[in-house]
Amino acid sequence: MAVDYPEVQMYIDGGWTAGSGNRRQPIFNPATEQVLGEVPVAEITDLDRALAAAARGFAQWRDTAIETRTRILLQAARLLRERAATIGQIMTLEQGKPVTEARGEVARAAGIIQWDAEEARRAYGRIIPVDTQSQLIVLREPVGPVAAFTPWNFPAGSPTRKIAAALAAGCSIIIKASEEVPATACELVRCFADAGIPSGVLNLVYGVPEEISSHLIASPVIRFVAFTGSIPVGKHLAGLAARVMKPAVMELGGHAPVIVCDDVDPVVAARSCVSGKFINAGQVCTSPSRFIVDARIAEPFTAAFVEAASKLVVGNGLEPNVQMGPLANERRVQAVQQLVDEAVTQGARVRCGGQRPAGRGYFFQPTVLTDVGEQSGLMQIEPFGPVAPICAFTDLEDALRLANSLSYGLAAYAYTHSAARANLLMRRLEAGILSINHVGGSVVEAPSGGYKESGYGREGGSEGLEGYLVTKRVSHRF
Ligand code: NAD
Repeated sequence: MAVDYPEVQMYIDGGWTAGSGNRRQPIFNPATEQVLGEVPVAEITDLDRALAAAARGFAQWRDTAIETRTRILLQAARLLRERAATIGQIMTLEQGKPVTEARGEVARAAGIIQWDAEEARRAYGRIIPVDTQSQLIVLREPVGPVAAFTPWNFPAGSPTRKIAAALAAGCSIIIKASEEVPATACELVRCFADAGIPSGVLNLVYGVPEEISSHLIASPVIRFVAFTGSIPVGKHLAGLAARVMKPAVMELGGHAPVIVCDDVDPVVAARSCVSGKFINAGQVCTSPSRFIVDARIAEPFTAAFVEAASKLVVGNGLEPNVQMGPLANERRVQAVQQLVDEAVTQGARVRCGGQRPAGRGYFFQPTVLTDVGEQSGLMQIEPFGPVAPICAFTDLEDALRLANSLSYGLAAYAYTHSAARANLLMRRLEAGILSINHVGGSVVEAPSGGYKESGYGREGGSEGLEGYLVTKRVSHRF
């Protein structure tokens, strides 16, 4: 059943609103380039209303019994699961990914809310024995109203990470989700609203990113900043937060190396890499994106990789059997084409793809390149698209040097059946997320986050609540 694209509104102080101004931005379907609808642009008065609501919402929510908080979060998770088929279609319309991927993302988002709801019960402090006349207590309290900013690649997953952790910890939140994929976040927020979240606890705004982030982060109401997106924007927002000494979690970009050793079956490894590489058309911060393969198996690995990549069905994500949709916007097509063209000019060989196909939509062919120079932009800059450069190594130490040579440090991958090599790679790869012998996605039970310029703080696992809590030491004389 085809789903209509819903009207997009903001959610402020428990009510849906088009905002106080007249500014609007078009929303495009990346598969057809047609306009789907409009997203309202918040004015300062709307943001101030959201800030006042978040302050009131926090005062109420932090003192709400954990039982009630958990019940509302679990009900929101249930509603999200019930609505996954519809929300998945909406996501595909505005973001482009195949609808099965989109529905899977919604289901995983429900799992995140459930995990955080359960984790909320375990935000323990501790009591330290001193003597018979006194006691030391360590309390874990919600840090306060949160300002959160999320990008367009995971329209459900990314906002959920922030909303669920903030609400579980007892914080209120104002989230500016991506203006390019706004309806999914509306439907997500609707689940919380329908589950009974009190007014002001959860607010959703859209607008001009810089206007919103500079106003919210500077406001004394906001106590914590959460961002997922590019490293340049992350540094900018971290700077705004530092000026007013506010803590932040920064989930930024990556350019994940994949080291493939010669003790694995190159065909099996290549197929595994392809299954992960082209998810969401490569627009994933943890996407495997620099393939560093032992020279002894580089050619069979490349042949199998090219064969599997060439067979991928590319098209409108709403069509059955489509395995890879378009890129989310025209900017990505141009950025990817530029990286590929530059590499080719510098001597790289295109083994498949390399082009934007003819016709409408922000499509780009699954692309594999070999003979890509280490200094090429493609090996240095996060491609965030369906492009796989493959290069060969003869010495594992040299592979490690290449893998660790960039300022990114988000994800890394390794393929080996040698325990000694796996142990070496586990200890030496400079990344916050390492998958061995598979392309692992994010999981609710364990933390995700980066080393180096890929950011700080963690989302997911018991660590995911950390940023949203603040520690208070109480010494009590009886
Ligand atoms: P961009 O760097 O301009 O924006 C990245 C995100 O930050 C967008 O969602 C945008 O709305 C938001 N943003 C930009 N300026 C902001 C501000 N002042 N305040 C608050 N939010 C702001 O580029 P883009 O074209 O949207 O994305 C391209 C790059 O972003 C890619 O190269 C990719 O590396 C990176 N990216 C990373 C992730 C991730 O999950 N880490 C997600 C999406 C994009």
